[in-house]
Amino acid sequence: MSFPACLQCESTYVYQDQSNYVCPECGFEWNPSDNSDDISPVVKDANGTLLQEGDKVTLAKDLKVKGSSLVLKIGTKALIKRIVDGKDHQLDCKVDGAGEMMVTAQFVKKA
Ligand SMILES: [Zn+2]
Repeated sequence: MSFPACLQCESTYVYQDQSNYVCPECGFEWNPSDNSDDISPVVKDANGTLLQEGDKVTLAKDLKVKGSSLVLKIGTKALIKRIVDGKDHQLDCKVDGAGEMMVTAQFVKKA
């Protein structure tokens, strides 16, 4: 059995403790099976609540839709279809009355 080098200090003395890999040199522990969950970036709403794909949210402020005269009113409901690692538009949402669009995480609240 060989274990991967420590993700933090690249020590090769990593050992396994139940489902975690543990580095005895820097103390870093990680779960190798968590990797698939880590693909989604950590995104928080206006209140600092963690958002996940499939969450229902409402708009925390009026939002102008780029390239149109449409304004989405505060309180409009949306469903998060996908979370992406974007600089300002992290949420691929299905918005009531507007269809699919990218929304900034800080402009919504988890419903
Ligand atoms: Zn280490």
